[in-house]
Amino acid sequence: DTEILAQIKEIVKSKSVELIHLQFVDIEGILKSITVTVDQFDDVVAGKQMFDGSSVKGFSPINKSDLYLIPDYSTFAVLPWTVEEGYSEARFLCSAANPDGTLFEGDTRNVLKKTVERAADKGYSISVGPELEFFLFKADENGNPTMELGDNGGYFEPSPKDLGERVRLEIYRALKAMGFTIEASHHEVAEGQHEINFKYADALGAADMSTTYKWVVKTIAQKFGLHATFMPKPVFGINGSGMHVNMSFFKDGENAFYDQADELQLSQEAYQFIAGLIENVKSFTAITNPLVNSYKRLVPGYEAPCYIAWSASNRSALIRIPAKKGMATRVELRCPDPSANPYLTFAVIASAGLNGIEQGLQAPASINEDIFHMTEERREELGIDNLPGSLEAAVSELENGEIGLKTLGEHVFGEYVVAKKAEWDSYRTAVHTWELTNYQAKF
Ligand code: GLU
Ligand code: MG
Ligand code: MG
Repeated sequence: DTEILAQIKEIVKSKSVELIHLQFVDIEGILKSITVTVDQFDDVVAGKQMFDGSSVKGFSPINKSDLYLIPDYSTFAVLPWTVEEGYSEARFLCSAANPDGTLFEGDTRNVLKKTVERAADKGYSISVGPELEFFLFKADENGNPTMELGDNGGYFEPSPKDLGERVRLEIYRALKAMGFTIEASHHEVAEGQHEINFKYADALGAADMSTTYKWVVKTIAQKFGLHATFMPKPVFGINGSGMHVNMSFFKDGENAFYDQADELQLSQEAYQFIAGLIENVKSFTAITNPLVNSYKRLVPGYEAPCYIAWSASNRSALIRIPAKKGMATRVELRCPDPSANPYLTFAVIASAGLNGIEQGLQAPASINEDIFHMTEERREELGIDNLPGSLEAAVSELENGEIGLKTLGEHVFGEYVVAKKAEWDSYRTAVHTWELTNYQAKF
């Protein structure tokens, strides 16, 4: 740690860092930030920065509101878009701690750390490769998002049609300068929809990168007069945005999901992991798909799943096994969307998979037919269940299931359920445009 700290100090000096942003996330994974001057550096890295936890969604009650920010040295980065001659800004992602120095249980970053420890107790390290899709909309002269898409390109479409390509290039450069290894970037299926892929990492690192990615994408898009959104289904009738989560467990430096001898080259643990996801997915959908809007993406016909099944290749299935094998063997869960808190999302997925392994669960048969075009009878015959159809249904599954409380702990679980019920209630009682369009003139 002292060595990394010395390196950071060196960068602070050589890049003339003047301001440091101490960032953390609230219960929804929304980025929060307090900015300090470089004079505070020594205090800040020693975890002496205090903040008011009672003003952060899902954090502490007003009577126990003092919390401290503990910067994670591995997340230090100079912000490339702030760099000028003799000036720059940097950031750390932080965990929240109680005044007595223990990790604050309401911080979702700490929740993921607990799951990482649970896996480590079994000898596993968790690798995660998330794929976050997003839309670019034009912003108006005040910088507010409009409903006009940034381009009308389609899947893998190159410029000049893809105006987004220039934006993606700038995002790529910024992320690379911040230490990301970028593997690919492309126009997605829907107009105005894009995806940039970074290399998989350990669970906490991947969640930190997801948080950073969302922030950088929005920041750079704004410089082009665009608004980037990770809302799951911004436009009816075209694909929504997913955050597919590729996960594998490693043991003793080897991919524990790989077994060359198996027909699909999957190990016993991989099958049990899949079984754990299938068994628990309904109870954790409220975490991976947290918004009212999330459930408008999970409908048939848009490459997003709505039925609970797994397959080696099928994009209509909830769980897919990407073709890459060996060290790259992994399980892809396709329901999560990028509005989800990545810390909680990776925690519940790993936790469900660990349950599958610990309990020796058996995976059902894989489904290779197109599930979107199956009749209900056929799905019933094959025992294919549905994901929850609304936030209301998902929250009730979360509340009644075991995985949520077990993984999130009492604090986050309680706060999350209350917040999501309130969100549903606000939606349920509001009058929407659809109702006016369909009812106002007719009745
Ligand atoms: N956009 C699709 C979704 O909602 C996924 C497309 C893809 O397979 O990359 O998940
Ligand atoms: Mg994609
Ligand atoms: Mg994918």
